[in-house]
Amino acid sequence: MGVTKTATPAGRRAELSANLAALTERIAAACAAAGRAPGEVTLVAITKTFPASDVRLLYELGVRDVGENRDQEAAPKAAECAGLGPDLTWHFVGQLQTNKCASVVRYASVVHSVDRLRLVHALAGHARKASRVITCLVQVSLDTDPGRGGAAPAQVPEVAAAVAAEEGLLLGGVMAVAPLGIPASEAFAPLPEIAAMVREIRPEAVMISAGMSGDLEEGIAAGATHVRVGTALLGGRPAFVG
Ligand SMILES: *Cc1c(COP(=O)(O)O)cnc(C)c1O
Repeated sequence: MGVTKTATPAGRRAELSANLAALTERIAAACAAAGRAPGEVTLVAITKTFPASDVRLLYELGVRDVGENRDQEAAPKAAECAGLGPDLTWHFVGQLQTNKCASVVRYASVVHSVDRLRLVHALAGHARKASRVITCLVQVSLDTDPGRGGAAPAQVPEVAAAVAAEEGLLLGGVMAVAPLGIPASEAFAPLPEIAAMVREIRPEAVMISAGMSGDLEEGIAAGATHVRVGTALLGGRPAFVG
């Protein structure tokens, strides 16, 4: 979390403000190119490795959706930001172990990385215990490497149906991360069809989370309703954090 230590609060605010303006332009341009309205795409600011003070600055700049990928970091950060406002929505976007579900359901309203039945049942049980309703996106794997998380496309309907059947969970749609090594436009190509399969289970499950700093244009072209952007908004992270 050392990246911002040298910046003054006012300097950091100006930096985030400029980055946010540029990013908003970029999203608008991508929407225009795809024949979509900019209001169709929600920016989820991925604040991993950055301090709660940055979440506060982003909130003051109008950002209402923030995302994290590790519970150990997200839980205390969300607690620190609890006073910001009830309209601040936390998204959990990283691979999730069942033993973290009890913690994640306390602060996250949306989990983007639901990819297996065991996780569905664990999330649902803890959501009910906490009297919370968690919106779940089924993460689909767009490559053949199972280590990176995500359900194979053929398994997506089964996972989605399991989410839809659980009290305490709301089926929101799908999420994908473009695999390295192939162009993102190619990687995201199957996504609209997979998203349509999920809408057959629940017509209101219209969320498509796709696109990051390097490929948000491709995500928006593939129908993304949510882009998850870290680096382009907050700056570089130490490489080992992912
Ligand atoms: C870190 C992360 C992002 C943001 O990546 P950037 O390239 O920094 O924009 C998006 N999605 C997930 C799942 C992440 O872990």
